[in-house]
Amino acid sequence: MRVGIGYDSHRFSRARRPLRLGGVTIPESPGLEGHSDADVVLHAVADALLGAVGGPDLGELFPPSDPRYRGMPSRHFIAQALRRVRSAGWRVGNVDTVVVADRPTLTPYKAKMRRAISGLLNISEDAVSVKAKTTEGFPPKAQGIMAYAVALLEPSARRRVQRKPS
Ligand code: MG
Repeated sequence: MRVGIGYDSHRFSRARRPLRLGGVTIPESPGLEGHSDADVVLHAVADALLGAVGGPDLGELFPPSDPRYRGMPSRHFIAQALRRVRSAGWRVGNVDTVVVADRPTLTPYKAKMRRAISGLLNISEDAVSVKAKTTEGFPPKAQGIMAYAVALLEPSARRRVQRKPS
């Protein structure tokens, strides 16, 4: 088995842009600053997947300086990370995430995010967890949103066959 960890943080944007978190749009909140759609949760998940296969991190794969990735939906990053997971002979066992946000209140969106992430990863909903926390007033209070993710990978059928002694 393999395990990977991911982290990301983005500041709230002054520009009018939608808040995307865990593949879900949260309409009542200002969006986050960022080159792509700034979905910190999906960025953390993608980095956890990449970390678990010893791959390059998200910033190396998709440099923010590269105009091709401007406004890019983060599901694309997840798809790329998954491709690497699969080609290395692994499949996603489960993914656990923590979102740290003083605003907006994420409780009404946790189930939606869980569903969206499980759909993107093609795993069952009970293999995905989204937990919402606040900073309790520690800096950087309310200036942005942070996310942590851990991913566990299991050998795929292909890998199990390859590793069987002949
Ligand atoms: Mg990011």
